[in-house]
Amino acid sequence: MDGKFPAKEAEKANVDLPLGGVPVAIKDIINVMGQPCTCGSKILRGYRSTYDATVIQKLRAAGAIPFGKTNLDELAMGSSTENSAMKLTRNPWDLSRVPGGSSGGSAAAVAANAAFGALGSDTGGSIRQPAALSGVVGFKPTYGRVSRFGLVAFASSLDQIGPLTKTVRDAALIMNAIAGHDAQDSTSLNEPVPDYAATLGTDLRGVRLGLPREYMIEGIDPQLKAAISAAVKQLNSLGAEIIDVSLPHTDYAVAVYYILATAEASANLARFDGVRYGYRAENPRDMLDLYGRTREEGFGQEVKRRIILGTYVLSSGYYDAYYLSAQKVRELIRQDFVNAFEKVDALISPTSPVPAFKLGERTADPLQMYLADIFTIAANLAGICGISMPCGFAEMDGQRLPIGLQLLGKPLDEARILQIAHAYEQSTDWHKARPPVDETAKKT
Ligand code: GLN
Repeated sequence: MDGKFPAKEAEKANVDLPLGGVPVAIKDIINVMGQPCTCGSKILRGYRSTYDATVIQKLRAAGAIPFGKTNLDELAMGSSTENSAMKLTRNPWDLSRVPGGSSGGSAAAVAANAAFGALGSDTGGSIRQPAALSGVVGFKPTYGRVSRFGLVAFASSLDQIGPLTKTVRDAALIMNAIAGHDAQDSTSLNEPVPDYAATLGTDLRGVRLGLPREYMIEGIDPQLKAAISAAVKQLNSLGAEIIDVSLPHTDYAVAVYYILATAEASANLARFDGVRYGYRAENPRDMLDLYGRTREEGFGQEVKRRIILGTYVLSSGYYDAYYLSAQKVRELIRQDFVNAFEKVDALISPTSPVPAFKLGERTADPLQMYLADIFTIAANLAGICGISMPCGFAEMDGQRLPIGLQLLGKPLDEARILQIAHAYEQSTDWHKARPPVDETAKKT
């Protein structure tokens, strides 16, 4: 995490406000006036934000103090934070492992108790997956529920900002502050915002929870599978009815995502050309050389891979075969959820197929990295809301590694998802566990 805590602001804080004086760390892809906004990329080196994102204005209005910009995979592309051009972020539970990504810095900061909570962004799982791997709560609101104004765009039809916190109540409090309509974001929904914190505390009698059969796949870590089964039993004992459901187009989600997200990214990233912001190649021969070398030198490998893929799927002759087909399958995936939500109030699954993996373990194989988001991606394609929260530990190499339980909910059904998550959380002790204090952490 970068940036000093602004003690002066804290002294002046109005503690009567809902988040009065509360420090919230910010993923370094959200603009905070006067601070660097690197997006974990060399291409934004030297850039300072000239305005506050809407979520930052809203946090300040609720009394919170946005401080510290947290590390991320470059331009939010990745699942381990290893794609950052800045620094390495380690998992506070085991420093030889990744914290997840792309909001890995936000998840690690909250897990290590360096902040009350943090903001992250979730395009295909980037709040929920690092929350799962780092043992914290991560909440992805419905697409359009939270303004994206001031969030550097990755894939505009999928991006959504949300909180990472230690408890469900804290997530509800941050949601109270940041949710709501914003005329500055054309995709922002003009719907009333309930008091998410006030509606917590209801029990689960009459709640119907769906277990998507396609999510209990081979390849899920056995310890993780056992923890999820135990969580399902626990939810059932709290009064929820558990129902078997099907999301038949699940198999296509990762492929569809990597066509649509890369296509949108290739267009969004065109603005980084060395003229407008940040990094600029030295001594250009001419304009084309300036564009070409700025992008060649400024973007990292994964971002270049995505731009090439995205440009390819949009190019004439391939557009119909890839981009258009992916749009159609996206609609089928969305429809799967509509059908499932006719039978149930929320869906349960693991957040990630595996607990935190070792640093370097997946960097050589992008496809392996992409599969880290197999359970989170469909929610973004469908635009629905979801949460990941701690539900147990796996034992690996003598270390305890957190396991995340995912709950997915209908569009704009945030309040209910938070209620279910809260009821589960309060009936267990998982959220009370903290990572071991490790002296080596201070040196890295
Ligand atoms: N891991 C996914 C990707 O690399 C999702 C990232 C995100 O949600 N920002 O694109």
